[in-house]
Amino acid sequence: MAAPAQRRILRTAIPGPESVRLHAARAVTTAAGLGVTLPVFVAEAGGGIVVDVDGNHLIDMASGIAVTSVGASHPEVVRSVQEQVERFTHTCFLVTEYESAVEVARVLNRLTPGDHDKRTALFTTGAEAVENAVKIARTHTGRQAVVVLGHAYHGRTLLTMTMTSKNTPYKDGFGPYAPGIHRVPSPYGFRWPGDPDQVAAEAFAQLRDVVETQIGPHNVAAIVAEPIQGEGGFIVPPPGYLPAVAAYAREHGIVFVADEIQAGLGRTGAMFACDHENVVPDLVITAKALGGGLPLSAVTGRTEIMDAVAPGGLGGTYAGNPVACAAALAVLRIIEDEDLAGAARRIEEIAMPRLTALVGEDSWVGEVRGRGAMLALELIEPGTLNTTRTPAPAAARAVAAHCHREGVLALTCGTYGNVIRLLPPLVIGGELLRDALGVIEAAVASLGKGEHA
Ligand SMILES: *Cc1c(COP(=O)(O)O)cnc(C)c1O
Repeated sequence: MAAPAQRRILRTAIPGPESVRLHAARAVTTAAGLGVTLPVFVAEAGGGIVVDVDGNHLIDMASGIAVTSVGASHPEVVRSVQEQVERFTHTCFLVTEYESAVEVARVLNRLTPGDHDKRTALFTTGAEAVENAVKIARTHTGRQAVVVLGHAYHGRTLLTMTMTSKNTPYKDGFGPYAPGIHRVPSPYGFRWPGDPDQVAAEAFAQLRDVVETQIGPHNVAAIVAEPIQGEGGFIVPPPGYLPAVAAYAREHGIVFVADEIQAGLGRTGAMFACDHENVVPDLVITAKALGGGLPLSAVTGRTEIMDAVAPGGLGGTYAGNPVACAAALAVLRIIEDEDLAGAARRIEEIAMPRLTALVGEDSWVGEVRGRGAMLALELIEPGTLNTTRTPAPAAARAVAAHCHREGVLALTCGTYGNVIRLLPPLVIGGELLRDALGVIEAAVASLGKGEHA
């Protein structure tokens, strides 16, 4: 089946009558805890378009949360999956082996930062890979403490929600949380209370202070960081922060783990977000874009660390599922052969100037940030840019709602819920992207000059 027409088409209100009918059935069938950004039911998707059951073509600025970087129905992924499904769907890699899992590991060992000897372990979800990175780091070091950042997001399981920063909705009422997790300030430049020119140095000094006064470096198994923070608000650490943390970890025998689940595999205009500063983590976690929509995640890193866990200590029934591996082999080939990191840089070149033009002292847009095709607008109360930078979550919701009504699938994020994030498929066409940017500009303009919410 060919990708749907790459145009925004509105046939009904969004959501349309058929989506409204199906959503009513969902509401009395599935658990309320499963929220939804836009209650539209999908008929097909591909390239930069999601087609709903009412025939509307929405521009996809979400990629199913940074998953369908190659598009939701890339013909090579479809073919690779179909061929695999016809041969076998599952054996469990821990029971009998198959070559595609080895090949995915080989490609990840080659693509991840650093040319040292590496091993990869495949899993299913991002959270599961984060959990396993912690297990591996603890075994290798014989230490227990794990250091994470403010505004971090690492998943929804017990350990990973503990590592996640934001209480509502990720943690509220779900305690008690896992022990051994210590949080240090995020180098969040836009909201840094100290010297704006010294964010990297001050944030690193605070990390070192927490580690040395509250934990003891000899007790720290791992420092886990997103090289660009995702759910927390697309926070880009200022230059120098990640290299300082990586060097500090090395000095103290601490495993430095990069959670590249959202930022990795071309999304930020480099193969990995760590590559922008030539940071070489000990362990790199991938998921999201890796399986092209099929569930697959991985921990890749130094052989001596990865091999610390004895046979049988890692794995899972579905870990490295063959159908997901078949999809991943196609995805990885497309990202490399079609230079999707380059495509992400072109998305930034088109979008950044237009978005940046929205920032101003009386604007709702306080900052535009991000890299490649991982871009965000932080909304604040107009007139507070030079003072309190008061978060404007209702305005962010209003911008997202305006986009949705106009057929652009945009997401919000951020600890204060006031960030609009853009995560288009890396294969989105220039015209479609420009159309979406026009809608976003109109949505911001529609907020008017003040007193929103
Ligand atoms: C999405 C995400 C996770 C969790 O992945 P799941 O597949 O949802 O478990 C972890 N870390 C980061 C940075 C993410 O963006």
